[in-house]
Amino acid sequence: MSVIKVVKDKCIGCTVCVKSCPYGAITMDDKLAVIELSQCTLCGACVKVCPVEAIELKVERKAIPGMEDYQGVWVYAEQKDGKIQSVVYELLGAGQRLAKAREAELSAVLMGKDVEKLASELFMRGADKVYIVEDDTLEHYVDEPYARILTRMVLEYKPEIVLTGATSLGRALIPRTATELGTGLTADCTGLEIDSESGHLLQTRPAFGGNIMATIRCENYRPQMATVRHKVMTEAEVDESCTTGEIVKVAITADDLASRTKVLEVIQEATQAVNIVEADIIVAGGRGLKTPENFNMLHELADVLGAAIGASRAAVDAGWVDYAHQVGQTGKTIKPKVYFAVGISGAIQHLVGMSSADVIIAINKDASAPIFNVANYGLVGDLFEILPLLTKQFRKMLNK
Ligand SMILES: Cc1cc2nc3c(=O)[nH]c(=O)nc-3n(C[C@H](O)[C@H](O)[C@H](O)COP(=O)(O)OP(=O)(O)OC[C@H]3O[C@@H](n4cnc5c(N)ncnc54)[C@H](O)[C@@H]3O)c2cc1C
Repeated sequence: MSVIKVVKDKCIGCTVCVKSCPYGAITMDDKLAVIELSQCTLCGACVKVCPVEAIELKVERKAIPGMEDYQGVWVYAEQKDGKIQSVVYELLGAGQRLAKAREAELSAVLMGKDVEKLASELFMRGADKVYIVEDDTLEHYVDEPYARILTRMVLEYKPEIVLTGATSLGRALIPRTATELGTGLTADCTGLEIDSESGHLLQTRPAFGGNIMATIRCENYRPQMATVRHKVMTEAEVDESCTTGEIVKVAITADDLASRTKVLEVIQEATQAVNIVEADIIVAGGRGLKTPENFNMLHELADVLGAAIGASRAAVDAGWVDYAHQVGQTGKTIKPKVYFAVGISGAIQHLVGMSSADVIIAINKDASAPIFNVANYGLVGDLFEILPLLTKQFRKMLNK
């Protein structure tokens, strides 16, 4: 049982704990702290601030029985219209490392219509085993059947770790599955490691607006589940000599496929044409461009370089460019070969989306702008002078 109590002999009546309690559960009675247990959530905030260690907290953590039976790393192999999504290769890259550290198997889960033919791509990227769930009704992603089937598979095969991309599909599928399983889930991870002592998965993600990196563990439940941001992990390398492996065909029933939702029609998203996540070169602009007309100057450079257009949130909020182009915490995470940051200051929320680009070239008139802390090449000056010169020079060099 969990217990919290004030040790009366130690309490000095300083009231620090009263101020620290987010739930108003501590009052003073005759210069002694008193905890109202019906309001206390055992968060431990008071324990940490007490200068004389007068508050004792014992939290009993009950691990699920049979936790040690859970073994192996699973990657959910998201596919769309018969094409494996590139985030899956990044998950397999991370999965290989984790499986090696746990001396366990790396498996992929493929669900959809006629998807078995895609299994060889997963073997080439390092999967030891591929679970196949095929049915015509699984052609398009629908929450209920997909989550129900995945939940059943986890209960049957007991993987220790389950990873999906932090894509729209992953963000819908995995929270449902984790809730059904009663286990923990860390969303939007940017780092995954195995704790060498405990063997737990250390799941790192930005928190508090990207100002800190939080590392989260799921110590008492299995599987450990995480969604992982696209373009943060390195893709598993292709081994063309390894196109086969163990295939497990998962049988499904009509009950598995039951759903209250029906896909009536699939409409191509207008924003799909703008896939900055896959672009090798991105020319991005920010508030420094000052007007929507000036923002168009970026297109000239982008056309010469065959680049995609990116933007800071300030530029998107000003209505100069569509949200699909936004880079950062509330936009896209990208990992191009080259990223031009033009008139972008480099706020932390922007940096978390682009700092893993291979080469960053920043143009800013303020030499102390934080973008220069991550830039490989910094051009300090007026973008309205520099940008046309750059475009002209690249055009000449590339014969365009
Ligand atoms: C919860 C939350 C989420 C957020 N998510 C995102 C996100 O996903 N992406 C994002 O980008 N932001 C995000 N932001 C906003 C972020 O904090 C910044 O406000 C934003 O990134 C600033 O955009 P900016 O760099 O274009 O503008 P500014 O910070 O105003 O910078 C403009 C820069 O242009 C330079 N400049 C001006 N004129 C010239 C010139 N003539 N020549 C050269 N340089 C010039 C200036 O020196 C300045 O550095 C988020 C904020 C919050 C609170």
